[in-house]
Amino acid sequence: MNEAENILLNSGHRIPQLGFGVFKVDPAVTERVTADALDIGYRHIDTAAYYENEEGVGAAIARSEIPRDELFITTKVWYSDHGTEKTLAAIDRSLEKLGLDYVDLYLIHWPAPKNNLYVETWLAMEKILASGKAKSIGVSNFHEDHLTAILEAGSVVPAVNQIELHPLLQQRPLRQFGEARGIKTEAWGPLGQGKYDLGELTLLTELAEKYGKSVQQIVIRWHLQEGIIVFPKTLSRERMQENIEVFDFELSSEEMQSIATLNRDQRFGKDPDQVPL
Ligand code: NAD
Repeated sequence: MNEAENILLNSGHRIPQLGFGVFKVDPAVTERVTADALDIGYRHIDTAAYYENEEGVGAAIARSEIPRDELFITTKVWYSDHGTEKTLAAIDRSLEKLGLDYVDLYLIHWPAPKNNLYVETWLAMEKILASGKAKSIGVSNFHEDHLTAILEAGSVVPAVNQIELHPLLQQRPLRQFGEARGIKTEAWGPLGQGKYDLGELTLLTELAEKYGKSVQQIVIRWHLQEGIIVFPKTLSRERMQENIEVFDFELSSEEMQSIATLNRDQRFGKDPDQVPL
């Protein structure tokens, strides 16, 4: 795990490139799952108010003996809490549930453009940054037009945009748009959320065989070499271990280019413009 790179964000803070996500992790098991991840060596945890498991993440942090400044904790504001007052209250609720004084990264979970409050919410995020309750702020599920709107209205450039991203949805134009403006890309659903079988992509199985790795390890390695911040989710300790054993091999540039050809622009989650419907 020591070989996991720390990526410098435009806030001046560093984020471990490989982390652990807890979407759909039942609140009843989140403490155990997060404690396992921390024990194995993960130092970056991605949660959200919407996941209703911030308490479990916080309980695992509290019982770990890891110094706070060695952890990187992300949470997110849900779209029902958009708007200045609600967003300022939402961060306080999340911090209380997490048992923390600050989060390392606070994200607008979805732009929810039909509600037309994400620009105002971004200005509230800037206040949260200034208050020290978040060390970095960013967005999730933002298209180029949503990013443009907050860049024009705000004075802080989002540190990250967290988007659906995996071999069938590689999002190169949006990534390049962000990179040109200093916004790092984070992948959600980096393994396709199990919604398609990575093992059916012959190229990946061939690479897995060549390197003596699983197709999941090949895909995580691909994310890392693409410079993407990634936090696969699993409840299994064995798979947590497997998912960080990706630093003892390197995909060649030809292999990276071959994986690029797998892109189908195929979304398995919702289009951000359609959330909420
Ligand atoms: P993922 O792509 O990480 O896939 C998780 C699935 O892969 C699970 O079914 C798990 O059992 C399986 N898996 C994990 N490691 C494996 C291995 N080594 N071998 C075989 N199967 C394995 O999907 P995800 O959890 O949705 O995405 C990762 C994180 O991204 C989430 O936990 C969450 O933190 C974040 N996320 C954010 C958003 C957003 O809107 N911002 C949406 C979804 C997820």
